[in-house]
Formats: sequence, structure tokens, C-alpha cells
Amino acid sequence: MTTHPTPDQVLVPAERRAHSRLLEKVGSFRRARDLQDSGLYPYFKPITDSEGTVLVIEGQSKLNMGSNNYLGLTHHPAVLEAGKRAVDRYGAGCTGSRFLNGTLALHEELEEKLARLLGKEACLVYSTGYQANLGLISGLVGRNDVAFLDKCDHASIVDGARLAFGATFRFEHGDLTQLEALMERHVDRGQLVIVDGVYSMEGDIADVPGLVELVKKHGATLAVDDAHGLGILGERGRGTCAHFDATNDVDLIVGTFSKSLASIGGYVAASADVIHFLKHNSRPMMFSAALPPFSVASVSAGLDVMVEEGDRRESLWRNTALLREGLLGLGFDLLESETPILPVVIGPDETTFRFWRRLFDEGVFTNPVVSPAVPPGEGRLRVSLIATHTSDQIAFAIDAFAKIGRELGII
Ligand code: PMP
Repeated sequence: MTTHPTPDQVLVPAERRAHSRLLEKVGSFRRARDLQDSGLYPYFKPITDSEGTVLVIEGQSKLNMGSNNYLGLTHHPAVLEAGKRAVDRYGAGCTGSRFLNGTLALHEELEEKLARLLGKEACLVYSTGYQANLGLISGLVGRNDVAFLDKCDHASIVDGARLAFGATFRFEHGDLTQLEALMERHVDRGQLVIVDGVYSMEGDIADVPGLVELVKKHGATLAVDDAHGLGILGERGRGTCAHFDATNDVDLIVGTFSKSLASIGGYVAASADVIHFLKHNSRPMMFSAALPPFSVASVSAGLDVMVEEGDRRESLWRNTALLREGLLGLGFDLLESETPILPVVIGPDETTFRFWRRLFDEGVFTNPVVSPAVPPGEGRLRVSLIATHTSDQIAFAIDAFAKIGRELGII
């Protein structure tokens, strides 16, 4: 039998550790440790059981108000069954990239299904949404090109722009006047404008019609990251571009399978030529292993459920309205949210962590968002709805917010 050393046996005593200048930052990194010491640390909480709206953490049931499982598909029987069948047929993984030895017939079927649903000629599946953004931006924005990013764009867009050879400019959230001024300064370059369809921490929707008008005027290219729009907005859940009837005017739609589709993976949908180019110039897809069979098949089944079970979308919006009215009625600030993502503004980071912990102790799991992700003093709790939340669960969450909001003097 193999025996493994215990953590105590692995630890090297401080006096025997060689000094490393590189690792000085590791020793002086206190922020997370201070939070751990104060009992307010909210990250990496191991979940020991999950049934969608209820999680078990630290041995206790918590109402899950902090997921991206908008349609409640993580435990849908058809989704699980499709995944299991694919594992039986293709095995546990692809052990290689799409480019060389990891493309399954299942990947291509999913790409065709997605392209049809999103109203684009073609689609390319990546192993995560993060990689899809990295792959699309670094693939398309060459040395003489520029990328324009909204300041609230997701981190994967920011990182994709850093990986690209071209320059990056960021404009204030939703400020199309500033965007146009930037575009005018770089008229002789290839221009990519890339925004979130639904902003993941704010819950507001991008002004896609306004962006379309600008990119048309300046001969630019528009990409919309619809991670939080797919399944929620538009006819049959086709997303933000469909919601604005702007599918044909948005050049690239990028997204993830880790939210409404309850799995993992990402995609870019665009013209056949763009997808052909990315297939041969998108390093995060070419040099990383393909999405495994379970995920591809369960996402494909999830897409069918998303289209066929429209009542899920209706419940999601009903639940959103219930929670929204409850929290607004109590006097909480929900910023400009228009979607099932509700940012509940709390204030300083310390108060935000304290509010998070009290809610957690009362049995409600949410996500704290603090600086530098948001400006100092504007900490918030990101609360998000699931189609399968019951009205009793929502009432329970509202009561908990009311109690703690008064206790901490927020309302
Ligand atoms: N884009 C946005 C807007 C997101 O919110 C996320 C995930 N938080 C991603 C991309 C990355 O998706 P994935 O989890 O598939 O890597």
C-alpha cells in the first residue's frame, strides 16, 4: 500500500528554507490571512452536498443565493443522463486538444446546434468561457489592431486583451461617447469592441443597439460576451443579441456553459470564415485539452431543455421580481440591475464581509464582491436567482436580509 506523508511531515521549518526574493510577496501577503483570523473569510468554502437551491456547507444546509445556475439545470435528469451515456461511449476525457486528437463527433454536433440556435453560420467550442475570450481576442487582435473594453468587462476579456499583440483601451462603463472618441483616435487600425451582454457583477444589460450603430459607423467589429444572457434573455433563451433583435449586427457572440447550461465549457459563434480562422489561430483552444465527453453531451441536452422548457425562464423572472421587490422595499440599493443578478450594495469591505458572514450563519449563501473588483466603499453582495427557487425560499432570504440589514445599520 502506498503511504503519503502528512502535511506536518511535508512542511519545511522556516530556518531551513532558502531565502527567495521571488517569494517575499508570499510571506508578506496578509489580506486573506487577516480575514481568516477574523472568521469572516468567505472563499473556497467546500460544499459537501448540493441539490441546486440548497447546499450543505460546514455540515449545515444553506439556501443557495450565490450560483450561476439560473435555469436550475445542474440536477436535471435529462442533462445527467446524456452526460453519463457519453462517458460510457467515449470515456472520461479527450486527452488532447481539439486541433490534434480531441475533437469528438459530439463537439461538432454541439457546435452546429449552438450556431443554429444563436443565428450564426458557425461555432467553435472551447474548454471554458475564460479560454473562449482569451482565444477570440488574442486570435483576432493582431499587432496593428486595437481592442476597446468596457471597464466592467469580465476578467477573462481583460486577460484576453493582455494576451493579444494589439493595444487595449478601456472606456467607462456604458459610456459610448468616450468609446467613440477612442475609436476616432485609432481610425487606421483594425478595431474590436468587446462587452458583456449582461454584466456579471452589476446585472445590467449592455446597450447593444447603441454599440451596433457605433461599430457600423467606424467599420469596427463587435463581440458580445453573453455568459449571463444565454438562457435568460431573448426568445427561447437565445440571449442578449436576440433580446435586441441584433443577432445579425453583432459579429461574434461568445459565452460559457458554466451558467445557465450548468456545466463547463465555452463557445464563440460567428461567420464561417471567422470560425475557420480561429480554428487555426486561437492558441488557448489549440494548445489545451478539449472539453470532455460528459460536459459536451450534458450541455447539448441542457440546450434542448433550455429551448423546450420555457416555463423555467418564466419562473426565473418571477423569482427575480419577488426578491427584487422585497429587497427594494426594505430600502436596499440594487444599482441598475435588470436581470436575475442582484448586486446588494453594502459599503466598506469589512461591513460587506460581516454582512456576508451573518447571512451565512442565518442559512443564506451569497457572494461578497469587494475592492479592487469594485471601488473602495462600494462593496456588495452578489445575489442571484435560480428558476427552481421556491417563493418560501425567497421569503426566507428577504427576512434574513431585513434582520441583518437593520442589525448592521444598512437599512
Ligand atoms: N465571461 C463572463 C462575463 C463571466 O462571468 C465568466 C464566468 N464568471 C466567464 C466569461 C468565464 O466563463 P467560464 O466559467 O466558462 O470560464
